[in-house]
Amino acid sequence: MNIKSMTLTELTDAMKEMGQPAFRAKQVYTWLHRGVRSYDEMQNIPKELRSVLAEKYPIMTPRVMRKQESQKDGTIKYLWQLSDGNCIETVLMRYHYGNTVCISTEVGCLMGCVFCASTLGGLVRRLEPFEMLDEVLFTQVESGLPISHIVLMGIGEPLDNMQNVLRFLSLVNSPEGMNISMRHISLSTCGLVPKIDELAKEKLQITLSVSLHAPSDEIRDKIMPVNRAYPTDALLEACRRYYGQTNRRISFEYAMIDGVNDTEECARLLLKKLKGLPAHMNLIPLNRVEESPLKPSSRSAVMKFQKILEDGGVPATVRRTLGSDIDASCGQLRRKYTKEKQNES
Ligand code: SAH
Repeated sequence: MNIKSMTLTELTDAMKEMGQPAFRAKQVYTWLHRGVRSYDEMQNIPKELRSVLAEKYPIMTPRVMRKQESQKDGTIKYLWQLSDGNCIETVLMRYHYGNTVCISTEVGCLMGCVFCASTLGGLVRRLEPFEMLDEVLFTQVESGLPISHIVLMGIGEPLDNMQNVLRFLSLVNSPEGMNISMRHISLSTCGLVPKIDELAKEKLQITLSVSLHAPSDEIRDKIMPVNRAYPTDALLEACRRYYGQTNRRISFEYAMIDGVNDTEECARLLLKKLKGLPAHMNLIPLNRVEESPLKPSSRSAVMKFQKILEDGGVPATVRRTLGSDIDASCGQLRRKYTKEKQNES
């Protein structure tokens, strides 16, 4: 296992086997979670131990391939190259409540949602826990801005990489590491029902976001292939069970697509289906993706939709689009970069 994927307990055990006391493990762990690029930066670790560790557990770090900063709102997007050459993206958003990173959980995605750029090239591989940790660490290091919030809403489906994601959450939450509160973390899923049930058992204080995007199978089937495996009603039942287990209100995402899912009937059906489930609805005007003919709903359609939900007792906010001048949404930068590379060769 990569040293940065180890919990403090596991690292302590590994170092004990090397004849090292527990306090050393803690020192090394703290350095690693500050985003050092080499053991030589660990000033309070003896030189000999540093070279033994470097031999046994090489420190891998992502390389910045592109950095784009929005002139409008300060959003920064990083395209990283991982040790095996694959690229992923991380977005840093500056909200009034704190700096938030949106991280990728996989290289590419299997889910096939028709409006999403991340899935166009399929799934390449799942990220290791330390690679997700590195997204947070090195965004903080590179930007010089302290990170307090994390959303797992970048490239990939987090619940398709469940064990690694759970381990990442415990790493980033650890007091000797970044110590980011679970309440400051949101995880978004396209709706893998059995995995939602599994996650519920963990009873984490994170916010579960569910990408609903339609109130009925008729519409959802067309835009999200996952719906054929886990239909809308089964998904909403899983959300109710999740709430029952965790007592955490579910946050729903609803990308508003012109003429597809933005009618008043859709809003009313949604209200009916959400009855009795404590929820919050995030309405997101669709971000245009070059390869897709789908268009965002008009502003008036979004406002009307929001009003129907609010009047029906479901709090609904229209999400501000940050970074619209820098390809900041879901997989667009990675896609552009990969295409450029293909054209070059
Ligand atoms: N796989 C997870 C998390 C990644 S995507 C999921 O599906 O939830 C984060 C959110 O962005 C999801 O709600 C996704 O449906 C949405 N999204 C993807 N492409 C979009 C686009 N072009 N416009 C608006 N939202 C989009």
